Amino acid sequence: MQEKIVLVKEKELDEIATELGKKKLSKITFIFPKRSSASLNRVAEKLHNIIDECIFQNVDVVVENIPYCFLVGYKRYIKEVESDEKIKPEKCKECKHYEKCSGIWKEYIERYGDKEIMPITGKYLITDNERCMIEILLKVGQATTKQLLELKNSPEFKDICAHCVGSDDVMLTGKNLIEKGVVVREFGASGYIWSLNKEHTLVKKVQGHGLE
Ligand code: SF4
Repeated sequence: MQEKIVLVKEKELDEIATELGKKKLSKITFIFPKRSSASLNRVAEKLHNIIDECIFQNVDVVVENIPYCFLVGYKRYIKEVESDEKIKPEKCKECKHYEKCSGIWKEYIERYGDKEIMPITGKYLITDNERCMIEILLKVGQATTKQLLELKNSPEFKDICAHCVGSDDVMLTGKNLIEKGVVVREFGASGYIWSLNKEHTLVKKVQGHGLE
């Protein structure tokens, strides 16, 4: 059994995804390098799928230099690596992982800004996108990412679902709801399948329209 270390670039992740089924690996370490032109959101989206496949194949996974907020639900696979060349922007102060998180490369923030960073607050706050996802899932039970995007444009939901424009928005909304324990996600033949934790207070409130 082999161990593999991957300096994360989008192209390499595509290769790893193909390789996983062919090579017997015991462990993979994904390292997001200081100098990378790849968007962390896009890398994280691919890593979700690869980590799921590693879990399925019993391959140990370690992820370095990607903060928790990009891999919500996968915290146990993240290894914090402290560095003077990392920072935590001001908005991180709201995040419940502020103390443990080693931050993000300064060079990355200089290149992309901090707009992708979503502090994990765990508070019972709800955004328009989150309400939209909950309302759709209350109606249909479960849906793929593609179906959610189609439904948000339907006459029934178009007034509350005004802000999502693509699958990245659905993924970000979904990951926030996963962190709050409102939504669960499984990986199926058509990609992610989203459904609700119907016992969650937020879901009950949206269902009863008791949320302002
Ligand atoms: S919001 Fe900031 S502190 Fe929280 S996980 Fe993301 S980078 Fe780390």
